[in-house]
Amino acid sequence: MNLLEIVQILENKTSAQRFELATQILADLKISYYVQVYPSGKNIIVKPSSPTQKYVGIGSHFDVVPRSGGANDNATAMAVCFDMLERAKKHQFKNFGIAGFIFDEEETGLKGSKAYVKEFGTNDLLGLMNMELVGQGDKFALWALNEKSTGNILETFEGIAMKNGIFSQRFDRIVTNSADHVSFVDAGMADVFTITCISDKDLEISIEYYKAQEKNNVLAWLALSEILKKAPLFAHYHQPSDLSIHLSESTLQMTANTIWETLLTFDEKPAPQPPKGE
Ligand SMILES: [Zn+2]
Repeated sequence: MNLLEIVQILENKTSAQRFELATQILADLKISYYVQVYPSGKNIIVKPSSPTQKYVGIGSHFDVVPRSGGANDNATAMAVCFDMLERAKKHQFKNFGIAGFIFDEEETGLKGSKAYVKEFGTNDLLGLMNMELVGQGDKFALWALNEKSTGNILETFEGIAMKNGIFSQRFDRIVTNSADHVSFVDAGMADVFTITCISDKDLEISIEYYKAQEKNNVLAWLALSEILKKAPLFAHYHQPSDLSIHLSESTLQMTANTIWETLLTFDEKPAPQPPKGE
């Protein structure tokens, strides 16, 4: 699947248009979906039956900040999500199915993912790989995580990236620590994280950014947004210039291939044994 072409279809569209396009793309791919309508919006959910009725979630959001081109945020994640669902259609996992989430209202307070968790809970989810801005750079930022974070899917992802020579680093936050993963963490899930693609320059700027943040005075805080703009990741963030011309197919494929290989490898891992004496 050419993922950049999908991003190009979705860019410069309103949230409402992106919802329509997303359902159209899924229909074209012959992937069944469910629309969860909640008071202020609607989520697109793909959850085909699976051998164990357990799922690994792949997360994205279709809504877009008004006037933003919305290519990297978050048409890229939608494109990778479609690709995972398309590949999963042709592959039978032994231990789980792939659930695709295309949430609404991420940008206005994670309302879509919160509504999902509220209505459906998380008991059937083994973990969630959520994505934000996966269209530029050659490295992975995994967040919101610290050194103590553990998770079978998380560690499998990191192992696959390392094996393939792709640098990945955990961040406790990327500017904010907020993305749709938070709704699942709040519901008590552990093996949950967001993937963002970054470049060397972004890594360099992140060090400067965190240092400025530590100073914690007014001038430092004013400087923060200027520092951020120097990072390629944030140069077009929530701007009309968030367009596919700044993105690359190879980054999208790097994300898709690493997630896919993580799923294949995770499927071969023995399921955790229930605690003894129960
Ligand atoms: Zn986003």
